[in-house]
Amino acid sequence: MIYDVAIIGGGASGVAAAIFLGNANIRTLIIEQEKELVKKVKKTGNGRCNFTNSYYDEDSYRGSKELADSAIKAFNYEDSIKFFNSLGVHVRDVDGYYYPYTNRADTITSAMINGLSDKVDVIIDRIVLKLEDKGDYYHIKTSYKDFDAKKVIVATGGKAGYFFKNNDEQGYNLLKDLGHSITKLQPALTEVYLKAFSNAADFSGIRIRGSVSLVDDISKSAKGEIQLTKKGISGIPVFQISRYLDVNSAVKVNLLAFETEKETVDFLDNSSCKGDRSVYSMLIGLFDERLVKGLIDDDIKELKYGSLTYEEKLEIIANFNFIDRVSGLAGFDKAQVTKGGVKADEIDGLSFKSKLARDVYVIGEALDVDGTCGGYNLQFAFSSAFVAANDIIKELL
Ligand SMILES: Cc1cc2nc3c(=O)[nH]c(=O)nc-3n(C[C@H](O)[C@H](O)[C@H](O)COP(=O)(O)OP(=O)(O)OC[C@H]3O[C@@H](n4cnc5c(N)ncnc54)[C@H](O)[C@@H]3O)c2cc1C
Repeated sequence: MIYDVAIIGGGASGVAAAIFLGNANIRTLIIEQEKELVKKVKKTGNGRCNFTNSYYDEDSYRGSKELADSAIKAFNYEDSIKFFNSLGVHVRDVDGYYYPYTNRADTITSAMINGLSDKVDVIIDRIVLKLEDKGDYYHIKTSYKDFDAKKVIVATGGKAGYFFKNNDEQGYNLLKDLGHSITKLQPALTEVYLKAFSNAADFSGIRIRGSVSLVDDISKSAKGEIQLTKKGISGIPVFQISRYLDVNSAVKVNLLAFETEKETVDFLDNSSCKGDRSVYSMLIGLFDERLVKGLIDDDIKELKYGSLTYEEKLEIIANFNFIDRVSGLAGFDKAQVTKGGVKADEIDGLSFKSKLARDVYVIGEALDVDGTCGGYNLQFAFSSAFVAANDIIKELL
């Protein structure tokens, strides 16, 4: 039998596309290399699945902003909410970040799997190895048994996350075989390793509100809870700027309790517990003790806070607002998304159809589009799936 459509990859974008196609009565096959569909989605949002976000502007996506914009304009966060409502999922709005009401990612994954109509066949545990163009259909070679389909959607995702035991490059190889170029792939939304900071002490486990910025371009800056790790820094603000960093990039890390050194010193100076106390005892009331121990020299810690000049106090506090160099980025296994993918000018943004391979569509993270942290990557997976499925529906019906 020749399917109307074969979808390579049963992740967020592939399964969403299959739901749209199945609802339009189009004979569809999903081929997934893992033993289950939407496996990665179960781990998203710390197990809660932040599936979309009501805020959207030109900085929400990196890589090809044009492809992202085209997809989001066709299917936005409200469409995602309606889509999940139609699958029986109630949603929770947390300041514009949307989660399933249950706060459980498996509510989303079960709803997606249950939302596949009987027009959709699913083959799991099978790696797609090659796509052969036979003129009016594609012959799809897998690790066991082959399939045929008139149209193909490549939804093979990226390299981020550690959930895939199988070859994470195979999707890109299929696309290269079809003539596509893949831009440089790099982990994004990931932990950043720092040179001096990580040598100072083991700060792992400390969580502190702060900000991180690129020294060369302070417009690349993010605020929020920073998680300190054995080798550097992590957490949402760090994820947001990790995409712009490379080994040796200079970053400014502000772990001050307040915005500036001055505000922090003024707070300490005005505190009623000043008395005759040491610098150390003043600081541990404001910062995690391990941070004070690791960042402040021993001889300074013992000084009487009250005996210092205002400038000396500012200098001490500046240790919590420092510039460091990046020694590396955590690997793809710890990253949430892949920077890079299929070159955007090889894809038609109005249909997500390949400009190089007949009747092939590419959607989701396999493309050179990466979203910021906050539901943007899943939203792009669903939006690009919608655009491709819609184009196919128009062509086939
Ligand atoms: C820890 C973590 C947390 C995240 N949290 C969030 C979040 O809260 N919100 C958000 O928006 N995004 C989040 N993301 C990102 C989001 O999960 C991805 O961007 C999204 O799943 C991409 O969808 P996709 O369909 O393109 O790829 P995937 O969901 O990765 O699916 C691709 C599928 O293709 C299969 N495949 C690949 N090659 C082949 C082949 N040759 N043959 C057969 N099958 C193949 C893979 O096994 C996989 O199942 C998170 C990612 C991680 C790793």
